[in-house]
Amino acid sequence: MTDLPGIVITGASGRMGQMLIKTVLGSDKAKLVGAIERDGHDWIGQDVGVVMGGQPIGVIVTSDAAAAFVQANAVIDFTAPSATVAFAQAAAEAGIVHVIGTTGMEDEHLSQIATSAAKATVIRAGNMSLGVNLLTGLTKKVAAALGEEFDIEVIEAHHNKKVDAPSGTALMLGEAAAEGRGVKLSDVRDSGRDGITGARKTGDIGFAVIRGGDIVGEHDVLFAGEGERIILRHVATDRGIFARGALRAAIWGQDQAPGEYDMMDVLGL
Ligand code: NAP
Repeated sequence: MTDLPGIVITGASGRMGQMLIKTVLGSDKAKLVGAIERDGHDWIGQDVGVVMGGQPIGVIVTSDAAAAFVQANAVIDFTAPSATVAFAQAAAEAGIVHVIGTTGMEDEHLSQIATSAAKATVIRAGNMSLGVNLLTGLTKKVAAALGEEFDIEVIEAHHNKKVDAPSGTALMLGEAAAEGRGVKLSDVRDSGRDGITGARKTGDIGFAVIRGGDIVGEHDVLFAGEGERIILRHVATDRGIFARGALRAAIWGQDQAPGEYDMMDVLGL
């Protein structure tokens, strides 16, 4: 048991944080050694098993990431961009694997994470599920096979608490489509249409966003041509798929040299 990789979960009380804790506790390939929440959170100082409504498990929730990381082999982090940048520095200093599920990162966050990845193994993906990563590969292939006469639209739906749009997964799919076409997404991205927008520009990759209820995550990549449409679709019904993917990444990362990786690397796709 003592040889199992020790995992710390950040944002422990969050939707993904709680799912990750359950996933690590249910795994025979890793053990939970820490749970982080921010200063002042009412979980701080309490046993994470108890605050999640179960038995004590001997892991006390703390806001001291550095102290938790030195006793661990990996941190799994689904929080917010500014928090993730700080966790990346702390993970690099402790020399542990940093698995990042946080979305909504700006260029500035990404460049700070790249600096940390010079010293530590960082695995980051806008979606950690096997199905979406397969979909990403398929999207790239279909985009490469079809000409610009097929308009590409990425349509995503999520729960009403999500704060960023389009989702990290939608952007990942858009990047894959752009790569398949041999263009840069930033040159062809069309998000947030409203009002008199004019006709759709040939070659653009469009994004449409739905927010409502408790939708876990749905993504369509639509290739709309004259007289036919191809739709690639992924529907997530359980956050467990992201947590299982993230744990797999944390274990895979134990044998990797410092640098930046994604789920395609982890899954060997
Ligand atoms: P959530 O329920 O709002 O949870 C976020 C957690 O992070 C909360 O516990 C929050 O604490 C904590 N947090 C925020 N800022 C923090 C800070 N500065 N220091 C410490 N903790 C901090 O959100 P969620 O639905 O779990 O999603 C979290 C992130 O994961 C989002 O970016 C989401 O898009 C992403 N996500 C990614 C995937 C994937 O496969 N890559 C899948 C699902 C979700 P407070 O409650 O105190 O604010």
